[in-house]
Amino acid sequence: MLYSNLSTNEQGHLTIGGLDALELVKEYGSPLMVLDENRVRENCRIYVNAVKEYLPKGSMPLYAGKAFCFKGLYSIIDSEGMGADVVSPGEVYTVSAAGFPMQNVYFHGNNKTDEDIALAIEKKLGCFVADNRDELISIDRIARENGIKQRVLLRLTPGIDPHTHAKISTGKVDSKFGTAIETGQAMELVEFALGLENINLEGFHCHIGSQIFESDPFCDAADIMLKFVADVKAKFGYEVKVLNLGGGYGVRYVESHPQIDIAANIKKLGEHIAADCEKFGIVAPAILLEPGRSIVADTCTTLYKIGNVKTITGYKSYVSIDGGMTDNPRYALYGSEYTVINATKADKTADFVCTVAGRCCESGDLIGEDIAIASPERGDILAVLTTGAYNYSMASNYNRICRPAVVIVKDGETRVGIRRETFEDLIKCDM
Ligand SMILES: *Cc1c(COP(=O)(O)O)cnc(C)c1O
Repeated sequence: MLYSNLSTNEQGHLTIGGLDALELVKEYGSPLMVLDENRVRENCRIYVNAVKEYLPKGSMPLYAGKAFCFKGLYSIIDSEGMGADVVSPGEVYTVSAAGFPMQNVYFHGNNKTDEDIALAIEKKLGCFVADNRDELISIDRIARENGIKQRVLLRLTPGIDPHTHAKISTGKVDSKFGTAIETGQAMELVEFALGLENINLEGFHCHIGSQIFESDPFCDAADIMLKFVADVKAKFGYEVKVLNLGGGYGVRYVESHPQIDIAANIKKLGEHIAADCEKFGIVAPAILLEPGRSIVADTCTTLYKIGNVKTITGYKSYVSIDGGMTDNPRYALYGSEYTVINATKADKTADFVCTVAGRCCESGDLIGEDIAIASPERGDILAVLTTGAYNYSMASNYNRICRPAVVIVKDGETRVGIRRETFEDLIKCDM
């Protein structure tokens, strides 16, 4: 199996964290997202321990909540000693409602409205990652109205183009995110920020993209950012305290993807940062990292019930499931690959090649094509692995399909993390 928490039992069923997938569906219904808490904790610890060991004093990993955001998950993340980053007022509200220590929360986004800024300040959110000049002006004004000095990082674009999907590449100069170093605008923004009375400029942030497997782009980003830190010191005598290098470490969705050794990557990054700081003659800033995908992706499995199975003579076979792009839009958006298993026949050979289709009135509503599974039949349970990141958080009610339930498994026990949506939920806002 792709992950150590998955196995097969005597009945030939898939087990998740030791629990029979079919029994879970019997108890909680379908589709069902099954989140393995111990695996989330293991992933957090890899970051927490490596950051403590290899990065400068005061460094911390933050969980990027946009990957999967709900109260129960934030409690787990907090108890593992990670901070959080949020990108919208809804995420600010959720993390606050979860009782998360707000001083460890960082607020991203390329367009925070005045209302968003006011909400975050009201919730005593720790640090803003300001995108540009307009936003700085608003943060400064609203902070003044509230009688506080707001901690701020500036989001900068280092001009890095990692090898990943264009829609998840974010560090290039031409990006909707941040302010570019290359054009000189970042330096102007620093001068401007240093002059604002209610802004406490702590440092800089960059995020180069997502699902990145190489370590070089992160080291390249660190080089560029630390060179900029040195230039800022030379120009304004200002010493940067915090450098946030964003998220983006890749995750293994299918056997052919590499398995990243995150701790080794952070070690390499740490050595790189130490050498840079020495070369540029600067004090090493505290480093923040913002993993999202690599914390949650491989902790969750989505279970669907197979409905119609049909073969178009001379073409191919379609296996339809009771979910699809409404709970997992990643194939429709990016053509993302997944490992799919017939959980009812997990011990059988996967030799039936098919397209797995969702139930929406939309031809693009697929989970994958040319997927081999063991002889699918109506009523079988289909497991799609690695669905913890950018699945539920991107889910919709298209076709008025209810979002699935999320059940958390831990040491053989289960509890509901997010209850299943009901038809009443669907019409709740209809007047
Ligand atoms: C998306 C994002 C992350 C998380 O990226 P992953 O690839 O999920 O690790 C972190 N920081 C920022 C600013 C982001 O936009």
